[in-house]
Amino acid sequence: MSMQSTDHRLREALEASGQRFTEQRAAVFRYLVSTDVHPTADEVYLAVREDLPAISLATVYKSLETLVGCGLAVKLTYADHSARYDGNTDPHHHARCMSCGRVLDIPGEIPTADIEHLRQEATGFTVTGYRLELSGYCSACLPEGGPKPAAA
Ligand code: ZN
Ligand code: MN
Repeated sequence: MSMQSTDHRLREALEASGQRFTEQRAAVFRYLVSTDVHPTADEVYLAVREDLPAISLATVYKSLETLVGCGLAVKLTYADHSARYDGNTDPHHHARCMSCGRVLDIPGEIPTADIEHLRQEATGFTVTGYRLELSGYCSACLPEGGPKPAAA
């Protein structure tokens, strides 16, 4: 996507939620859509500082939350309270490397009907969405002799 159309998408989404277009928000969004590494806020900060040396980490955090709030980015949160951000809002899932922490994209969706089948009749739980994360080892981290079974 060109920088013009990225900025246009950002401008429209910000306006739709009553927010202003700023160079800081634009720099954060441009970086997010340019990468598939699922960066942490710190990593986004290091990347956008190259273009906007005066930007603060706090502004990066706020910009990321604004983008998530506008539906332009997805925040991936983890049990250790860390978070990563994804500028790809197309339906897809993730695989996380248990050794280096890399997060890789797994394209595609599981049909909602299949998910519905997983529902426990007894709980009466109504499924409105789901998040699938595969765990394992990326090609750089695969242990000698194959993967160890995941700890329960
Ligand atoms: Zn790895
Ligand atoms: Mn992703």
